[in-house]
Amino acid sequence: MSIGAPSAERRRPAPAANQASGAAPPLARGLTFQNVSKAFVRRGSTEPFIAVRDVNLEIESGRFICLIGPSGSGKSTLLNMTAGLFHPSRGKVFYDGAEITGVNTRVGYITQADNLLAWRTLEENVGVALEIQGVGKSERRDRIAKVLDQVGLTGFEKSYPSQLSGGMRKRATLARTLIYSPETLLMDEPFGALDAMLKSQLQAELLRLWEADRKTVLFVTHDLDEAILLADEIVVFGTNPGRIVHRETVTFERPRDLVEIRNTPEFAQVWQRLWNIIELGQRKGDAS
Ligand code: ADP
Ligand code: MG
Repeated sequence: MSIGAPSAERRRPAPAANQASGAAPPLARGLTFQNVSKAFVRRGSTEPFIAVRDVNLEIESGRFICLIGPSGSGKSTLLNMTAGLFHPSRGKVFYDGAEITGVNTRVGYITQADNLLAWRTLEENVGVALEIQGVGKSERRDRIAKVLDQVGLTGFEKSYPSQLSGGMRKRATLARTLIYSPETLLMDEPFGALDAMLKSQLQAELLRLWEADRKTVLFVTHDLDEAILLADEIVVFGTNPGRIVHRETVTFERPRDLVEIRNTPEFAQVWQRLWNIIELGQRKGDAS
């Protein structure tokens, strides 16, 4: 097990003959951010506010990426641009080589709030995307049963969200997204509010599910332990303006035993190094 420099490995299509302006072509399989900035004009102000600046990032398909950094450093903005809900003020975001110009239907987005519908049972919540797609009742029932089994919620089909614990609601949110098999999962601080024990359980379960089909995952967290345990690569954000300040490849072997990894000297080393970088990014931001 070792921690190394960012991977140089890249899979690109051959440059198109008419490739404009010297930018490298986007990844054929994966996400590419090219010189991406996003500015907002806030209420009561005429000055644009820069949420993220000059993001250049390539994420190969199938990688588990953790985004970490202080509040307000643009992490959610980056997810929103990946989902096609926000569009860059400058630069471009590409998915599998094509620029994202509308809502990106190839991603599943798990936001921090669980957004379960209070008046629907667990199975009705989990099946909502299939209902919208017009999938028939019996196929829906089979797929709901399968995904509830995957996330450990079999037996709670008829429960309402208010009858579920915090951890069960998180599982339900995950099931509601996994059921339509998005190629890419965007997860914004999904385990943020949970106690340590529950969080550890859900981290292990998420990795077990991810091992089965290795979707691309962009996972925002403010928990450095969590980032190191889960990620193939950690992208560290800084503030003022929001931007990427560091990238770190994490090469603990998979499948990972999270308890074992946490006790290794490598874990402690990478933790300390990243902690210093995060703190420095924050102080630099505060000073500017
Ligand atoms: P993070 O997720 O790292 O906490 P965000 O991406 O949510 O950061 O936000 C980055 C900055 O952009 C924040 O200062 C936030 O207030 C601002 N911002 C985000 N979305 C909007 C919006 N829709 N309108 C105005 N400002 C926004
Ligand atoms: Mg956020």
